[in-house]
Amino acid sequence: AVDKEKTSSVAKIKVVVRKRPLNKKELAKNEEDIIDTHSNSMTVHETKLKVDLTEYVEKHEFVFDAVLNEEVYHETVEPIVPIIFQRVKATCFAYGQTGSGKTYTMKPLPLKASRDILRLMHHTYRSQGFQLFVSFFEIYGGKLFDLLSDRKKLCMREDGKQQVCIVGLQEYKVSDVETIKDLIEKGNASRSTGTTGANEESSRSHAILQLAIKKSVDGNESKPPRLVGKLSFIDLAGSERGADTTDNDKQTRMEGAEINKSLLALKECIRALDNDKSHIPFRGSKLTEVLRDSFVGNSRTVMISCISPSSGSCEHTLNTLRYADRVK
Ligand code: ADP
Ligand code: MG
Repeated sequence: AVDKEKTSSVAKIKVVVRKRPLNKKELAKNEEDIIDTHSNSMTVHETKLKVDLTEYVEKHEFVFDAVLNEEVYHETVEPIVPIIFQRVKATCFAYGQTGSGKTYTMKPLPLKASRDILRLMHHTYRSQGFQLFVSFFEIYGGKLFDLLSDRKKLCMREDGKQQVCIVGLQEYKVSDVETIKDLIEKGNASRSTGTTGANEESSRSHAILQLAIKKSVDGNESKPPRLVGKLSFIDLAGSERGADTTDNDKQTRMEGAEINKSLLALKECIRALDNDKSHIPFRGSKLTEVLRDSFVGNSRTVMISCISPSSGSCEHTLNTLRYADRVK
């Protein structure tokens, strides 16, 4: 039975922001930190030019659920972990321009979550037949690739009961954090890398790591276990890539259009969730179709918006904060 009391205390949608420190490149260009952070709000100081070319500063104020630094896991995913056992499906997104800290921020989260999940399985839910599974795949140019299976191309199927099935996706049953760490490293190494270099290409794909909790049916180990809850970690494509639609290269333009479509569709889906709308516009993109079952029923969404502090990124930063503002 679902423990309603346990699940209802965790916010349905949480939007937080993380500002990374200025990096060497930005410092070398004498770029400044233009963002003041407060406990749950931030002010962006945008330098603009008047018609007579004198400078003035325009201030933009944004309010979120939290502005975070080191304590990301504690404030975002940790409260969700226990309710995954109560049939909740939860999704944690990292959004932001390339270089804003998405991958850096996401990296420790699945490990900490699986450590806590395994702890609950071994203590609180001991001998109840729960099992933990890991899968890791990528959406690149609207296509799915298995990152734990040599980039095998995958396809998606719906079973009519709003369950999403990714045909052929490798799921590894895991019982220790070390194994999960190895799988994540293997998956990351397998992310799309073009001739132009790893970061360049991986910034055009969404990486999706899923932790699934299953339970054996009537304690019967020979039957396939049934899905209980799911926790998905999504390292989104660089938000600035959605603007690649004017690039000279046709392939790049197409990928840009796909990214633009998926980030817009994602925003619409989260907004529909928040308003408890019965119609959720999944069909807008591959990303939202894949996440369909995490948007219906008892679901939780965490959006971590990552930003650079630098004056050189002001426009992208404002775009990221406006996106987050619309979602919240
Ligand atoms: P993205 O995935 O958004 O393209 P990365 O996570 O790769 O960006 O971060 C870009 C660079 O900045 C990396 O070298 C990373 O180590 C560094 N970085 C990102 N966030 C932080 C942070 N909060 N503290 C220190 N370094 C960071
Ligand atoms: Mg990255």
